[in-house]
Amino acid sequence: MGNVKPNILLIYTGGTIGMVKDFKTGSLRAFDFKTLLEKIPELQLLDCNIDTVSFKEPIDSSNMNPKYWIQIADIIETNYKAFDGFVVLHGSDTMSYTASALSFMLENLAKPVIFTGSQLPIGDLRTDAKENLITSIQVASLQTKGVPQIKEVCLYFEYKLYRANRTTKINAEHFEAFASLNYPDLAESGVHLKINEEHLFKPDLKKALTVHKELDNNIALIKLFPGITETLLKSIFNTSNLKAVVIETYGSGNCTTEKWFINMLKENILKGIHIINITQCSGGSVMMGHYETSNELKNIGVISGKDITTEAAISKLMYLLGQNISRKDLKTIYESPLRGEMS
Ligand code: ASP
Repeated sequence: MGNVKPNILLIYTGGTIGMVKDFKTGSLRAFDFKTLLEKIPELQLLDCNIDTVSFKEPIDSSNMNPKYWIQIADIIETNYKAFDGFVVLHGSDTMSYTASALSFMLENLAKPVIFTGSQLPIGDLRTDAKENLITSIQVASLQTKGVPQIKEVCLYFEYKLYRANRTTKINAEHFEAFASLNYPDLAESGVHLKINEEHLFKPDLKKALTVHKELDNNIALIKLFPGITETLLKSIFNTSNLKAVVIETYGSGNCTTEKWFINMLKENILKGIHIINITQCSGGSVMMGHYETSNELKNIGVISGKDITTEAAISKLMYLLGQNISRKDLKTIYESPLRGEMS
């Protein structure tokens, strides 16, 4: 049993990583993933069996949405027993949203799901795709006594493995395109692959995988700026069917104390709309009540997103709204870490 090679499923959804340049025309085109092993013979050196599955029509990740998230969850659910690990190839632009969403949708995940992509196509001479792909497969294959070492949704990019729901795309050009500012890296790839065991998510292995596919996207995201108008906010809050709003406030969760603003939030909370306070800073946490400018938010029942990323805040909200949870419980559950997405 001990010497059996792990089975890894590569799921290609689209994005730059799966493209090759037509050297005659210079344009990028999708590459047939069935021929992956021929195109990257190095993959045969890996100590695992690789199978591939691709979206019928691979997409640029700017076109990602919850329907595609469900498609990825379906593929993982269907193949969960047969495979020891999953590598999802995805455009980098919205990778943190998809990967965060999958972390909530796959409850009690006990196998690695590694998202990766690249800044340059796999067929480009200077591509970052090969290293990202090869190391992601290696990470997904890591086992201790036949049990996967990583049991969570991760994102691997440019020598670093991150907890996916802690990541944000921070650079549109650099190979180091992602950051996890509020949680340490799970692994670093150098001469050796160094896993930071103490930071890995430890699921309850007695529980079976539950895949949640009910997502409610009747939500809004508002980024505060000095001078934001009442008219604009009113129009957002008047959106039909709106269930919740994530507000990116300043610093440690601060906002204007103007009467109209606080009253508008209060009225909407009373109407049953959930309001979540997250910070527009890339690092650090909301601490409602720390300054006078956030005290009122706490008093009127705004939910604290603590140090969650915008990507995880949005997907956690869609996930929780899709569950049958009472108003009061939603606040308590939102403020608790479910998959290591907040401290
Ligand atoms: N626009 C591309 C995408 O996100 C960029 C990339 O693949 O990195 O699909």
